[in-house]
Amino acid sequence: MRTDTGQVFRLEDYRPSDYHIPLTDLTFRLSPDSTRVVSELTIERRDGVSGTLPLVLDGDGLVLKRVEIDGKALARSAYQATPDRLEIANPPARQFRLTIETEVMPSQNQALMGLYRSNGVYCTQCEAEGFRRITYFLDRPDILSVYTVRIEAKRDEAPLLLANGNPGERGDLSDGWHFAVWHDPFPKPSYLFALVAGDLGLVGDSFVTASGREVALGIYVEHGKERLAAYAMDALKRSMRWDEEVFGREYDLDVFNIVAVSDFNMGAMENKGLNVFNDKYVLADEETATDADFANIEAIIAHEYFHNWTGNRITCRDWFQLCLKEGLTVFRDHEFSADERSRAVKRIAEVRTLRAHQFPEDQGPLAHPVRPRRYREINNFYTATVYEKGSEVVRMIRTILGAEMFRKGMDLYFERHDGDAATIEDFLKVFEDASGRDLSQFALWYHQAGTPNVTVTASHNAGSNEFTLEIEQSVPPTPSESRKRLMHIPLAFGLVGKDGKDIAYTSVDGASVEDGVIHLRKRRHVVTFSGVTERPAVSLNRGFSAPITLSIEQKPEDLMFLARHDGDAFSRWQAFNTLLTDALITATRCVLGGKKPAFAKELVELAGTIAGDETLEHAFRALAISLPGEADIAREIGANIDPDAIYAAREALDGAIATTNQSHFKALYEKLSVAGPFNPDAASAGRRALRNALLDYLSVLPNGETLAASHFAAATNMTDRAAALMVLAHRHTKSAEAVNALAVFEGKYRSDALVMDKWFQIQAATPGLDAVDLVRRLTEHAAFSMTNPNRVRSLIGTFASVNQTGFHRADGAGYKFFVETVLAVEKRNPQVAARLATALRSWRSLEPGRQAKAREALLAISAAENLSADLRDIVERTLA
Ligand SMILES: [Zn+2]
Repeated sequence: MRTDTGQVFRLEDYRPSDYHIPLTDLTFRLSPDSTRVVSELTIERRDGVSGTLPLVLDGDGLVLKRVEIDGKALARSAYQATPDRLEIANPPARQFRLTIETEVMPSQNQALMGLYRSNGVYCTQCEAEGFRRITYFLDRPDILSVYTVRIEAKRDEAPLLLANGNPGERGDLSDGWHFAVWHDPFPKPSYLFALVAGDLGLVGDSFVTASGREVALGIYVEHGKERLAAYAMDALKRSMRWDEEVFGREYDLDVFNIVAVSDFNMGAMENKGLNVFNDKYVLADEETATDADFANIEAIIAHEYFHNWTGNRITCRDWFQLCLKEGLTVFRDHEFSADERSRAVKRIAEVRTLRAHQFPEDQGPLAHPVRPRRYREINNFYTATVYEKGSEVVRMIRTILGAEMFRKGMDLYFERHDGDAATIEDFLKVFEDASGRDLSQFALWYHQAGTPNVTVTASHNAGSNEFTLEIEQSVPPTPSESRKRLMHIPLAFGLVGKDGKDIAYTSVDGASVEDGVIHLRKRRHVVTFSGVTERPAVSLNRGFSAPITLSIEQKPEDLMFLARHDGDAFSRWQAFNTLLTDALITATRCVLGGKKPAFAKELVELAGTIAGDETLEHAFRALAISLPGEADIAREIGANIDPDAIYAAREALDGAIATTNQSHFKALYEKLSVAGPFNPDAASAGRRALRNALLDYLSVLPNGETLAASHFAAATNMTDRAAALMVLAHRHTKSAEAVNALAVFEGKYRSDALVMDKWFQIQAATPGLDAVDLVRRLTEHAAFSMTNPNRVRSLIGTFASVNQTGFHRADGAGYKFFVETVLAVEKRNPQVAARLATALRSWRSLEPGRQAKAREALLAISAAENLSADLRDIVERTLA
């Protein structure tokens, strides 16, 4: 474990390395407790660098066995080796061959970085700085090298030997060993290196690229699970075709392999030609996976595949540029899912995710720009800001330039930077060059942290037929950035007339307005539309064109009107969601004041109208009628949060909607039940989503537990089964029906770890005071393991980040349990522990009692001895 060195890395300190490594030849002799790695590096000085230049290679916990230059052992005085660094004081001035032999112990590696074992399979994870746990290297993304990898292993232990690139020579060695050689012709950074060796089953297929080349596709899974990889393979082939059609990008190697492993810190990793996946994002059938799982698999398979161009062929110059590959690739996978599924529904889901995960980052102590300027531990910057907001920034570039010019810019990016380690400046420049536009103000979206606030007042002058929007922007201060500059915000809009259609205007003044987008560039714009003969309802930030918070003085009847009639599906959803959120905030105040919340009849009835509106997609209706989550409401309230009051308010609105619409909901619920074979497609999933949203409402009515129990018993797929189990466990906790359903589920799936994750997740989110004891008990369950990241995230992660009433218990018991658990996880896996610890990032918005207890918890973690760099960084920034 790397403990904290206190070292801060700064963007402005970047300088190119004095040395290049054009060729890297690796030989692995695999053994669980003593793997030998021989690395033969061809090293050259950078042009124009002269004098005596020490070569300093990165390591992390390495044991050096041998070091040679040009085949001769290096004198002991010529180098210094520690576990974390190898320094050669005076290497030859010309090109030379450096041979390094190290020893690593994959079986002891619980941090899951570098070379480790997962269920008997050797695998690697090198992003961001894992390669240095395998061998000494210039472990930075701007060192691009051509890799040839030879793997030797016992044939019975590892019949399968995989690495990046194309397969080469293979054969037998003595004593039951064998070998395979892989060569990757595309120069790549060390973080994209991968090796997999073990005994796995293959799902094979092939793909013919647009130019007619045949690519062999392989997905490797545990024996017996091959059937569960069919959907992932289908998603892969669709992704490959889509990238050709939409971005003109063809695959470049002869093979493309995916390996599913059960112990993995992240979702998946885009290693060139050899993607390694958390098995959660590969394995699925209707019996074990929900519709959400299918959608995630499709999105993540696509995401990692798309990295082949955005990340691998063009990589990042340094880790500050992480968003160059991640934000862009998230944007690409979002577009893929939107094309494959419903664009409107996908957009709503994206925005919900952004608000749930990125907005709290921007609004709390962990705020950082999409391209950070400093870090202590890069592992902690794989954040929603870099990924999700990074994607929104790319989306805004397309909004500003238009689809055609955006594609032209992307084509130029691939043409100009193929084979480069590039920067955000390079990326923005291609769009400026392609379009002739100036994006210098827009670039602040990469450089400046914080969610901009836009406030709007609207007025209509019936005498002059003028409609005026007074728009002001401000960016709230964030840590280490108290003064903010004005942003270029593209605000899509529509003026909606009484017939529900957008009304025309004759001219506009006060801001540049193009193709339905107002371009805000100043602090204040007074935008006047002429020739507007009726007072319109104004629909702003359509499609969520900019990741901002918008406050607009709007009459509830205008919002009600937009929720019924807005031509933009996203804004229609947003209007209703705003009404629900406002009602819930008012209700929370009632609860805190000791009053019973009451809700407008029109609002409660509108939920029923939307649920039954046959002109809308099922999935849209399901999203629209699902109430904002407790954390969403807390974020909107902003300060002095009492999670119990929010929970009570939400329960009250649930009850009001269910009671008012009960016969309608019941009829709709019955109508939506379908027999026949399962289909994972978006339309079928939408139908299930709406039916399960209705079940959730109906379950709060008398005998709701009976309905939910029969829904559970009749379920023929995991989506319906898990939905019913959640309703029982959360709404009828401890009822005979809930106890029975949990036992049945456990009995049926006891030996399927991924399905048991759902069982842990559902229970970890059980509202109320008993949750902490329940979660503590579940850590003793046979299916739980503190060393497996998926188990830890399902049980501990869900409890801390989802369970608002249980985790934020007023007496601090939830935090106390959390401190113990985070420290226990950290001993094995600092990265996963640091990620867990971000659950307290919004602690300052809690009411004073809980705030004090949360602070104590953070201080307790911070006081622990030998804290890892990962965890110390998060805890200290959270407390700062
Ligand atoms: Zn990625």
